[in-house]
Amino acid sequence: MYDFDELERRVHACTACTLSETRTNAVPGEGSRTADLMLIGEGPGFYEDRDGRPFVGPAGKFLEELLASISLTREDVYITNMVKCRPPNNRDPLPSEIEACRPFLDRQLEIIEPKVLVTLGRHSFAKFFPGETISRARGKERPWNNIMLYPVYHPAAALHNPKLRSTIEDDFSRLPSLVESATARQAGPVEVPDETKQLSLFD
Ligand code: SF4
Repeated sequence: MYDFDELERRVHACTACTLSETRTNAVPGEGSRTADLMLIGEGPGFYEDRDGRPFVGPAGKFLEELLASISLTREDVYITNMVKCRPPNNRDPLPSEIEACRPFLDRQLEIIEPKVLVTLGRHSFAKFFPGETISRARGKERPWNNIMLYPVYHPAAALHNPKLRSTIEDDFSRLPSLVESATARQAGPVEVPDETKQLSLFD
């Protein structure tokens, strides 16, 4: 088992999938390593690849607004992505790329042990509950191991769509009470699903 500094070193040096060949910077994630609230997006985009930081483009600005609406800053939460390197032309990450990058996300979950895990968009939601649609699942908390998982739309999808925008704003407004109730309920260490279960995500 390795610590968070070693995790970041490994991400920056990683060549486990072909996204390493086209990235400018790997983007491990950033924020509080003891955060109660962790957010997982899909993958770095142009600005994130350029700066080596998650959610720094227009969608990131919107995410900061959403956090501010519940009196939080980026420093209060931990923000990362399913894949740590940018897919070319911002295409969707491939299942094989998500699988190659999975150990890093699993280790982040083990170390941070968030109370509430917000999945941003369909890919990060599908890691935990494959086969369900984000439009039906969003805004409904559910347990996953010892964490309260809470799916919402991706900020990029909601950025220019007034209907989705108000939906994601409403969904974020519930987060403080979810963190409070998850904190009251949570006990014991985070368990990472076994390999067999993980592999079935992409059947
Ligand atoms: Fe490694 Fe993940 Fe980057 Fe692929 S996306 S090269 S698995 S860090």
